[in-house]
Amino acid sequence: MEMIEAKNLVFEYIRRDEEGNVESIIRAVDGVTMDIQRGDFVAILGHNGSGKSTIAKQINAILEPTEGALFVDGKDVSDLDNIWEVRQSAGMVFQNPDNQIIASVVEEDVAFGPENLGVPTEDIWVRVEESLRAVGMSEYRSHSPNKLSGGQKQRVAIAGIMAMKPKCIVLDEPTAMLDPSGRKEVIRTLHELNEKEKVTVLLITHYMDEVIHADKVIVMDDGKIVMQGTPKEVFSRVEELKEHRLDVPQVTELAWELKKAGVPLPDGILSVEEFTEALCRLKEKRG
Ligand code: ADP
Ligand code: MG
Repeated sequence: MEMIEAKNLVFEYIRRDEEGNVESIIRAVDGVTMDIQRGDFVAILGHNGSGKSTIAKQINAILEPTEGALFVDGKDVSDLDNIWEVRQSAGMVFQNPDNQIIASVVEEDVAFGPENLGVPTEDIWVRVEESLRAVGMSEYRSHSPNKLSGGQKQRVAIAGIMAMKPKCIVLDEPTAMLDPSGRKEVIRTLHELNEKEKVTVLLITHYMDEVIHADKVIVMDDGKIVMQGTPKEVFSRVEELKEHRLDVPQVTELAWELKKAGVPLPDGILSVEEFTEALCRLKEKRG
């Protein structure tokens, strides 16, 4: 069943002068059609300005579609009556964890969302405990969020969303402000939530190496979907990715360069392990 379904989705930022005349129109999302199935881990990749955040805001009913249709868990986001249900189905995590953490103690911060939803107090604490466990932050429950690393703060923000029991989490460049180890922590956490808690994940990023374990990768440029497929399919098309101003993972690029130079390697190598295996197989063949 579809968790997110977009049909010819369009969004235009329209700027008007004081008299209300249109000064400029930016078509940030330009005819996007996509299906995200329940339980999937989907990544949206794209250079700056390709329309990723605008789509995320549409999914969260912050921006209303200019044209086309968008359904979240079967609900039309353009229908004002659905806004709260849509927001509860699809929880959002943003770039900067500091803007998302409000309480001075981790567990209170995670409790904030379910409290606002009117969840009974006993249930709130069960949810807080489960959510902190799911992101591996239980031992920090009585700490101050200020003292946590960026990756830990982002995991607390994710726990806060999980505590509201969404069916889907949409993350808009959640690792952009983190160091490499923080980035890995967050991506690992997302995969665990997807596998164990069966939460649908829509990860928006411009880091290619974060999407190699996704079920599906969607590449956007200039408001449009320009490529999509499994990570292997998408990363086999190195030249096209470069045209869309995306860097491929180093090992993928190295394998691709070697292949161009005549080394018979398979397309779409995504990890160092895969690369070394392929090289070993070559060596065996040549004996
Ligand atoms: P991304 O998240 O991929 O970087 P965005 O969705 O933020 O892309 O932006 C898509 C396009 O819309 C860009 O051209 C950007 O300049 C424009 N844009 C984004 N936000 C606004 C806004 N509030 N007003 C006008 N134009 C905007
Ligand atoms: Mg953005």
